[in-house]
Amino acid sequence: MTRAYNFSAGPATLPESVLQQAQAEMLEWHGAGASIVELSHRGPEFLQVAQEAEADLRRLMSIPDDYAVLFLQGGATGQQALIPLNIATPGQKADYVLTGHWGKTAIKQAKPYVDVNIAASSEAGGYRDIPARETWQLSDDAAYVHVTANETIHGVEFRDIPDVGDVPLVADFSSSIVSEPLDVSRFGVIYAGAQKNLGPVGVSVVIIRRDLLERAGQPRADIFTYASHVAKESMLNTPPTWNWYLAGLVFKWMLAQGGVDAFAELNRRKSGLLYDVIDNSGGFYRNEVDPAARSRMNVPFFLKDESLDKPFLAEAREAGLISLKGHRALGGMRASIYNAMPEAGVEALASFMRDFQQRKG
Ligand SMILES: *Cc1c(COP(=O)(O)O)cnc(C)c1O
Repeated sequence: MTRAYNFSAGPATLPESVLQQAQAEMLEWHGAGASIVELSHRGPEFLQVAQEAEADLRRLMSIPDDYAVLFLQGGATGQQALIPLNIATPGQKADYVLTGHWGKTAIKQAKPYVDVNIAASSEAGGYRDIPARETWQLSDDAAYVHVTANETIHGVEFRDIPDVGDVPLVADFSSSIVSEPLDVSRFGVIYAGAQKNLGPVGVSVVIIRRDLLERAGQPRADIFTYASHVAKESMLNTPPTWNWYLAGLVFKWMLAQGGVDAFAELNRRKSGLLYDVIDNSGGFYRNEVDPAARSRMNVPFFLKDESLDKPFLAEAREAGLISLKGHRALGGMRASIYNAMPEAGVEALASFMRDFQQRKG
C-alpha cells in the first residue's frame, strides 16, 4: 500500500510519523497495559497526555499565561455559538467582518444571541478580497469583533489582522492556526477545529483571555460555559481523549520540525509553488483572489475549460494526488496544503499541473 498526497481541506492529511506512532501505541500505551483510548480521562496516563499537549501548544504558539487553553468538543461551529453566549449579553451588538463561507456560519450561529453588525463584507464581490480596514463600520459598544483568519473554501487569508482598539478580537483560526508565528496577546479569543492544522476531527482548541471568562454572558447550561471548562481543565465531562492524544502527537511533531517559524517558511514556499504555476499558465489555470489576500493554506483554482475538470481529477489520482476537487459552493479545484503536507507533495502537484497543461492546453 502506498499513501497518496492528500490535498483534502479537512479532515486533512496528518504527518505520517504521527500515524505510525499512534499505530505503534494503539494496543498498549507506554506500559499502561491498555490503549490510551481505553483508559480513564482522570487516570495518570491520560492526565500526562493532556497536560503535555497543552504545554506543547503553549510553547508552539507562545501563549501568554493570562490566556486559558481549552480542548473541547462541538467543532469550530460549536464555538461560533458559545462565544456570543459567553462573552456577550443578550441582544448586545457584535461586529463581524465577513470574508467568506465560514464568516457566514459564524454569523448564523451568533444571530440567536446577539445583534450582529456586519462591519464589512466582501460577499458582493464573491469573497475575493478583504475589505480595507478604513471601510470597517465598527460599533462603539460591540461585545467583540469577529474575523475569520483564513477562509478555507474561498482561499482568502488575512496577512495581518488589523487593530480594532479595545474591543476583544475574536478569530476563527481553524485552517491557519500554527501555520506561522502569531501574537496571541492581540486577541480576546482564538478558536480552531483541529481537523485542518492540528490533528483529527473531534476536538477544538479555544484560547481565551482570562478576563473574558468573568463576563456574565447569557443564560446557558454549565456545559456551554467556558469558565466551567477552564475550572475543570477541559474535563467537565469526558473529553475526546483519542483526538486530544493525536493532536498532542502533532504538537510534538511540529516542535521537532522547528515550530511555527519553520512552518511559516515552508508554507510560504509551498503556496508560492502553486500560485507560480497558476500565474504562469497563461490563463489555463486561474485563481480569482486578490493576490494580497491569497491563502497560504487553501489554494482554489479553476481550469480554463470546465470539461477538463474530470480528466484533471482522474489523472491527478492516477499520479497519487487526491482530494483536489473544489468545494461544491465554488466548483473548480482546491489544494489544501496545511503544515502536514510535505513540500514534495506540493512539488508533485505543481509538476503534474504543468504537465497536464502541456498535454491539454
Ligand atoms: C472547517 C472550518 C470550520 C468548521 O469546523 P467544524 O469543526 O466542522 O465545526 C469553521 N471555520 C473554518 C475557518 C473552517 O475551516
